[in-house]
Amino acid sequence: MRMSWNYEAPLRDMRFVLEHVLDAPAAWAQCPAHAELDLDTACAVLEQGARFARERLLPLNATGDRQGCRLQPDGGVRTPDGFRDAYEAFVAAAWPALAGPPRWGGQGLPLLLDGLVREMFDACNHAWNMYPDLLHGAVQTLAAHADDACRARYLPALVSGQWLAAMALTEPQAGSDLGLLRTRAQPQPDGSLRVRGSKIFISGGEHDLSENIVHLVLCRLPDAARGSRGLSLALVPKFLPDGSRNAMVCEGLEHKMGLQASATCAMRYDDAVGWLVGEPGRGLAAMFVMMNSARLHVALQGLGHAEMATQNALRYALERRQSRVAGARAAAGGATADPIARHAAMRHVLLGLQAQVEAGRVIAARAALALDLAEQHRDAAVRQAAQARAALLTPLLKAQLTRLGFDGASAALQVFGGYGYVREYGIEQSLRDARIAMIYEGTNEIQAIDLLQRKLLGDRGAALRALLQECLDEARACDGPQQARPFAEALRGQCDAAARALDALLALEHEPAATSALAQDVMEALWWLLCAWAFASSARAALGLHDGDARWRQAKLERMGYARDWLLPRASLHWQRITAGAALLPELPAAQ
Ligand SMILES: Cc1cc2nc3c(=O)[nH]c(=O)nc-3n(C[C@H](O)[C@H](O)[C@H](O)COP(=O)(O)OP(=O)(O)OC[C@H]3O[C@@H](n4cnc5c(N)ncnc54)[C@H](O)[C@@H]3O)c2cc1C
Repeated sequence: MRMSWNYEAPLRDMRFVLEHVLDAPAAWAQCPAHAELDLDTACAVLEQGARFARERLLPLNATGDRQGCRLQPDGGVRTPDGFRDAYEAFVAAAWPALAGPPRWGGQGLPLLLDGLVREMFDACNHAWNMYPDLLHGAVQTLAAHADDACRARYLPALVSGQWLAAMALTEPQAGSDLGLLRTRAQPQPDGSLRVRGSKIFISGGEHDLSENIVHLVLCRLPDAARGSRGLSLALVPKFLPDGSRNAMVCEGLEHKMGLQASATCAMRYDDAVGWLVGEPGRGLAAMFVMMNSARLHVALQGLGHAEMATQNALRYALERRQSRVAGARAAAGGATADPIARHAAMRHVLLGLQAQVEAGRVIAARAALALDLAEQHRDAAVRQAAQARAALLTPLLKAQLTRLGFDGASAALQVFGGYGYVREYGIEQSLRDARIAMIYEGTNEIQAIDLLQRKLLGDRGAALRALLQECLDEARACDGPQQARPFAEALRGQCDAAARALDALLALEHEPAATSALAQDVMEALWWLLCAWAFASSARAALGLHDGDARWRQAKLERMGYARDWLLPRASLHWQRITAGAALLPELPAAQ
């Protein structure tokens, strides 16, 4: 049996989330910038996105992996065959401008829509999507922090995708701890900077997809304070406004486990010309504008991988036959083996994956909608609350959806058995490509610390309490329809556990060693709380559907019920550990 790696965009589920779970059109109506947008237009955009992903990106995924990027003798980087054509088509279709600011040529559509489109692009070709993935964050950073001249010169070309962007933070000695970085920037009499230093692991630092590449480089001005307070942000373009080549070079490409078609560059800046973005010494704050949107995009990479792996594993499991199902009656025609999708072990894997992907989509959509409301809602109080919600959800999504991307690909590979381990089915590439998302854009351990220290303890639990209130409202709504009641009960259980855990954490507030030992448990437990909310709201929304496909509705309800009964109990270990208070971790001895 031979099958190809394929993609059926989850357009129906996306519409269900927009229309019935979130009621996005009602939220858009409260945002002057989106008030004209209706559901059918939004879904038409998603359909076009699905077609672009399937027709232009999917065919380049395996070939890009095999061919990889090549460093040319002149320091240029050649991307795999077809990448450049696909990028030209992407720009011509105005995809980069989808959620860009209208002032700079963007279409100003909601990030929620942009996020769903990204999920499809990532599912079909994560490596290709690495190139444009940083555009939106770069645009936001420049729009918020660059001076007028810089904005006028760079934003139109970045919003349209004519030029691409790179984010240059990491150095050999400075990874998670950016306070250790050494790249220098020397101010010049004409107001520009000369940037000198080396960066490693820079995605899209050099390539042949766009005429220019705009690097946002984290660096130190003379006499800067030590540590992260002394960092500044510089804009350093590959080509200067007069058309000359800037003094920066790609010294090498990393040989890596996956994402072969994404150029991961070692960059050297030899007194390259640049300009300061934002205040001196406030570079990290400016960079965080880029990083928050980038973290949501990385979460969507994980979701795209998980969706792709799940649907391919399911297709395979429905065709591959091995053994008779225990207790099954003899099949008509005397078949001696059943599809593996009928074996209980495989059903657990596939139902678990489907339910987690669907819940992940709801949670990511909630975060993207919160970002839209934070920017566009007419009421300032709603904007502020939405900002706090997006900030709370961002580390959870980044860490948990990237984990689902990798663990999901691994679980799906198991469904393929030995065929999963060999190349031709595509799942081994997914596993390799998905792994990096747990590391870059702030490792998942750093996300857990951010969640605990900044997002929970930082506001003494205020953002979490607001979220719990909304979950309890959902539970109350689920008290109505009889079939929804078990979801209400499960969600209330998670809310009670979260409230107790928050009290326990606040009691340990001044003991950082104790709280940091619990950071991973807090991350896991809160994710299950969000999943319980997603299971409940999806089940209630499905119960409210009276037209359309009854089988689809029933299957959705069954998956949500499965997740509530079989997956949600996993949360209890993490809640228990938090409320028990951490025993201090033993130190690791330097040598035995
Ligand atoms: C393919 C690829 C693409 C990349 N793209 C870019 C890019 O475009 N731009 C860019 O600037 N960088 C990029 N990076 C770099 C990436 O962001 C870093 O690798 C990442 O931030 C981690 O830094 P590090 O590798 O130095 O690991 P380290 O910081 O040394 O961490 C090693 C381990 O220690 C853990 N750890 C570190 N500090 C703590 C702590 N305080 N508490 C708990 N655990 C901790 C980490 O979680 C990790 O598990 C890329 C890397 C790769 C491999």
